[in-house]
Amino acid sequence: MIKQTVADSFYKTVEELCKELYIKALKDLPPDVRETLQKAYEQEETETGKQVLSTMLENIKIADEKNRLICQDTGIPIYFVKVGNKLSVDFVQLEETIIKGCQRATVEHPLRSSVVSPFKRQNNQNSSGYRIPSIHYDVVQDNDKVEILMVPKGSGSENMSFLKMLIPAEGVRGVKRFVLDTIATQVGANPCPPYIVGVGIGGTADMCVKLAKLAAVTRPIGSQNPDPEMAAFEKEMFEAINELGIGPMGLGGLNSAIAVNVEHAYTHITQNPVAINIQCWPARRAKAILGADGKYELGY
Ligand code: SF4
Repeated sequence: MIKQTVADSFYKTVEELCKELYIKALKDLPPDVRETLQKAYEQEETETGKQVLSTMLENIKIADEKNRLICQDTGIPIYFVKVGNKLSVDFVQLEETIIKGCQRATVEHPLRSSVVSPFKRQNNQNSSGYRIPSIHYDVVQDNDKVEILMVPKGSGSENMSFLKMLIPAEGVRGVKRFVLDTIATQVGANPCPPYIVGVGIGGTADMCVKLAKLAAVTRPIGSQNPDPEMAAFEKEMFEAINELGIGPMGLGGLNSAIAVNVEHAYTHITQNPVAINIQCWPARRAKAILGADGKYELGY
């Protein structure tokens, strides 16, 4: 296969986009999230829950009008990068430009740098450091584009991440029990509900955690797992979690989760890993898709 070589300006455009996507994600919520929160407000039956959701909607409106961040937590920057196999891309250069774009967003906007080293808690004041921003690559077959999805992941939601290596004998009941017990006893009000619950099922321990993250932060609300068994699990867990009555910001109500998304993989015959990752009510994400000539489209 003859691969398309990218234009000279390509990497500069990637750098600009990685800067702009970080800022855009922090200010401009995707339409599916806006619509879901509006619907939640209309359907909420408790007075306090309605008040909280109305404050969230007002928060979004003020952010739009005044060009402000929706939440003060600029998060850990994550870039999910899909590269079409028909493109000839220098991955070293690509990574350098993504990191530079992320740093420039923080310094030039400016944004709060929420990234520190784990022991000394050193903050480079540019949202980056060893292995951060977190960058994930995928190669896409029969494709000649680069897709960059930027997600600023707030710590309130990221702190509510869990993994359990279940044994096969625990079956589907074990998976359901783990999800519901964890949400009821550990997650609760901590990650600013109503939230998206991402569930990873199967794979290895590390893959399972990544699947939960993908489920929580990359899928638009309203999307379903294409496997009917998993789609039914999503629906059942969504209803069960909302019956817990945690409610908006944990003050009680009908809306605890705005979505339950599952991503799964085959696993080992002797194990059944399950992971949970949460995305809070401002489910922030911003996307760009660009071609070899550097022309791009923005989205979510
Ligand atoms: S969990 Fe989300 S909404 Fe809550 S403070 Fe963190 S980023 Fe903001």
